[in-house]
Amino acid sequence: MNLEIPYYIENYIGGNLVAPLSSQFIDCVNPATAEVFAQIPNSNEKDIELAVQAATIAKESWGNTTLEERFKILNRIADLIDENIDAFALAETNDNGKPLWLSKKVDIPRASANFRFFATGIMHFASESHSMQGKAINYTLRQPIGIVGCISPWNLPLYLFTWKIAPALAAGNCVIAKPSEVTPITAFLLSKICIIAGLPAGVLNIVHGLGNSCGEAIVKHKKIKAISFTGSTRAGEQIASIAAPMFKKLSLELGGKNPNIIFADCNWDKMMKTTIQSSFSNQGQICLCGSRILIEESIYQKFKSEFIEKVKSLTVGDPLHENSKQGAVVSKSHFDKVLNCIEIAKNEGGKILLGGNAVKLEGRCANGYFIEPTIIEGLDANCTTNMEEIFGPIVTLQTFKTLEEALQLANTSNYGLSATIWTQDISKANYIAAKTESGILWVNCWLVRDLRTPFGGNKNSGIGREGGWEALKFFTETKNVCIEF
Ligand code: NAD
Repeated sequence: MNLEIPYYIENYIGGNLVAPLSSQFIDCVNPATAEVFAQIPNSNEKDIELAVQAATIAKESWGNTTLEERFKILNRIADLIDENIDAFALAETNDNGKPLWLSKKVDIPRASANFRFFATGIMHFASESHSMQGKAINYTLRQPIGIVGCISPWNLPLYLFTWKIAPALAAGNCVIAKPSEVTPITAFLLSKICIIAGLPAGVLNIVHGLGNSCGEAIVKHKKIKAISFTGSTRAGEQIASIAAPMFKKLSLELGGKNPNIIFADCNWDKMMKTTIQSSFSNQGQICLCGSRILIEESIYQKFKSEFIEKVKSLTVGDPLHENSKQGAVVSKSHFDKVLNCIEIAKNEGGKILLGGNAVKLEGRCANGYFIEPTIIEGLDANCTTNMEEIFGPIVTLQTFKTLEEALQLANTSNYGLSATIWTQDISKANYIAAKTESGILWVNCWLVRDLRTPFGGNKNSGIGREGGWEALKFFTETKNVCIEF
């Protein structure tokens, strides 16, 4: 199978790989080497119009395919991703900067799992009926919406792209999808896989381009009736301001500033091992990372010294090397932003306990965007560093004395995506879980994911839930039919 990456990436519209109508392209950069290795379409509203026309032709017949047919074809796509895991993982790493072992272990397997999960899910999806005791019966229809838009970010490129596309297609919709312009390559490879898998033309259209042109053209298009977006709170706000007055269905999965709450009675070893992961996995570029670590005062010194020692051993290195625990951050602009956040933290009185600098590697990665895992203490709960999402390998440490103080600190944030709680006391864990203003709570674990569970945030972390039936409900239009006897 030819999964070579050409220098000029193409859109996937109406079943074909095509150049952008404007013939304009954007540089695609490997963040580990700073080298431009491809050009991606700088698509605009004209390309989106073309994609919508293709989807309009396809939507009736795709909406009427049997569930078995959709099940088969989505599984075929999953199989083809798995068969080509090496090519996908290498492309993801070269595009994003994450370690190759991580792309292979997490990102790509999860992309195929998304297709399999929703292929199976649609076979079991059912709707309710409400009997009115001999007078009438109501039944609920859940029908495809028609054409939907899916827009995804750069941190988990194929993983999050497929997390939206798979349920949208399974529910019988045609999709106009835009991956991040920063990490478009695995979405391009997916286009090729869909062609080989025999997905009918126009059912999925993948259009590459910038957020404020290509992305906004998706959001603004009258025929695109629902938008599923994952990305920053800033872009989510902009999207909501366009889509809400058009009465589009909206699912917004936005930023986070998640608390990791550690009580003295925790399982120490498990907490320490997991806290290192929840702080720095994927260079801290996971919306669910616990970037605010809240520690019970009685264990603070012990925690601090052991945490620093262990984090020191996280090797920052070439993402292609097996022993690199940390790769590059995603881009030059993000690298600059994260380093600037460290300066802000220092100006706010933060003490850098570890890291705080760019890492200069040798050889192939000499110009890459690498940052040391950084631990900061001594900051106020309301300062910029503790309130704004950084989305890099930076954590702050704060202490608390009581359960109520822990809760207050946890809820200080304007975000409400996830929280982690470390305690052996189940009552305490339940109490905190109930009172924390977050959509996702992990007790004595982190990032343990069951794809059936509702996924999403409160407050500035977004609206709506994805995952399981929530996603299939989002991607269908609900209709009640009442029949009187
Ligand atoms: P971003 O908002 O800059 O971009 C995300 C996507 O939206 C990209 O495809 C971009 O081109 C597009 N976009 C940007 N502006 C747009 C606009 N005005 N209209 C339409 N589309 C637009 O985010 P990012 O920097 O790619 O990703 C990082 C952010 O994503 C972080 O804030 C992170 O927390 C968040 N995130 C959230 C979740 C979650 O599940 N809640 C998961 C992963 C990442």
